[in-house]
Amino acid sequence: MSIKESNYWLETLRESPKGSAGPLPESVDVAILGGGFCGLSAARTLAKRGVRVALLEAETFGWGASSRNGGMVLTGMKLAVPTLIGRYGREAVQRMYAASLEGIDLVEQIVREEVIDCHFSRCGHLEVACKQAHFDAYAEAAQQIRREFHHELRIVPRGELRAEIGAEIYFGGLVDETSAGLNPAQFVSGLAKAAQRAGACLFDHARVRRVSPQTAAGTRTFRVETLRGTLMAREVILATGAYTTGTTPALRKKIIPIGSYIIATEVLDEELARELSPRGRMIYDSRHFLYYYRLAPDNRMLFGGRAAFFPESESTVRESAELLHHGMIGVFPQLRDVKVEYVWGGTLDFASDAMPHSGKIGGLYFASGFAGHGVAAATWMGAKLASVICGDVDDNPFSKIAFPGAPLGLRSGNTWALPLAGLYYRVLDWLT
Ligand SMILES: Cc1cc2nc3c(=O)[nH]c(=O)nc-3n(C[C@H](O)[C@H](O)[C@H](O)COP(=O)(O)OP(=O)(O)OC[C@H]3O[C@@H](n4cnc5c(N)ncnc54)[C@H](O)[C@@H]3O)c2cc1C
Repeated sequence: MSIKESNYWLETLRESPKGSAGPLPESVDVAILGGGFCGLSAARTLAKRGVRVALLEAETFGWGASSRNGGMVLTGMKLAVPTLIGRYGREAVQRMYAASLEGIDLVEQIVREEVIDCHFSRCGHLEVACKQAHFDAYAEAAQQIRREFHHELRIVPRGELRAEIGAEIYFGGLVDETSAGLNPAQFVSGLAKAAQRAGACLFDHARVRRVSPQTAAGTRTFRVETLRGTLMAREVILATGAYTTGTTPALRKKIIPIGSYIIATEVLDEELARELSPRGRMIYDSRHFLYYYRLAPDNRMLFGGRAAFFPESESTVRESAELLHHGMIGVFPQLRDVKVEYVWGGTLDFASDAMPHSGKIGGLYFASGFAGHGVAAATWMGAKLASVICGDVDDNPFSKIAFPGAPLGLRSGNTWALPLAGLYYRVLDWLT
């Protein structure tokens, strides 16, 4: 296979957003570390509300997970509803679920208001059952979601699955019509331009090396040192996701960085594309070690998974191409002779409780732990953090829950135990 080791989405960008060329301002109201969905959404909201904001991105805008993902804008959270209710109680979980739906609405609203050409579409998502027992559990899950959140899911028995997917290996499916799909690189690029239009100053290649609190005349501020100079900020937002470094050690200790990889085929002809995914859904399977896949707007099949648990490197990306190709043919034998043209990887930001988190750590605002739901959740959390900084009541249900540290060996910067975690989930998938 001769495959380009690069992110297909980036090749669809007509023009990448450009950062400010000049020096950093001496001081701002808010400095944001990280230019993905979370940081850019916060910057847009703050600037629209008249706050002086500087966003500092170590690489280029969207360089992190935000331009590398599957572009699935999904309802719900990672964990099953009974687990969530057992942990946080019914009322809190109802607000969390509502937030997940609001996140999708917010993405749609931003796309519309800012006229972002990113192929946003409410195409719905399809979860497919890898075992009969997984399918049997769908009825109960759908009922619970209807009862607790008044949200409708549709069960698709095996005999009717053909209308949803051209694969024979699954035991049935569960459809949620509310979810959406988009081109993440185009969305993040549009979000950056929108933040700039609103008045935010965005600086790329401005890695932050140190954030230190200072107090002068009874007022606390932060000195933010970057590769492009230093600025003072009244408040700081950490929106560094899975790419959080030792610059902010307290947050880094909380994050488990998990690699995820995607291959993209050559453009499929219309007939084959419709056979594989007649309704153009965002699709994922019911395993812990799951595959997720979708058609790109130009009819390539994008097929992703945790082929390696380690964050991306040249070797994990290369190995993932083989593994994902094998996985894709297992699902869609029709793609046996179709060329794979791209492979890339990125790092997901997991908390050890598999929940998103937001709030303050060491005096700095943060939002992280979006796992595979960051397109909607990171966009929503960024906007929420901004509104709290502007003085609005904090009604974010994820800012009220405890944020556990990541176990040793799994935390960002020290991930020797990640393959063991991968093995654990493979065994779990085999057993359950
Ligand atoms: C392969 C893959 C597939 C995925 N698929 C989906 C999906 O289909 N649907 C979904 O909802 N989610 C998906 N996700 C998850 C989603 O992409 C993330 O949760 C989301 O993008 C996180 O956004 P963010 O803004 O928090 O972080 P990021 O987009 O990762 O941005 C963080 C930024 O911080 C910068 N940074 C780090 N340290 C510093 C510093 N010291 N100074 C300045 N800048 C710094 C980094 O350079 C980076 O650009 C996927 C993720 C991956 C990797």
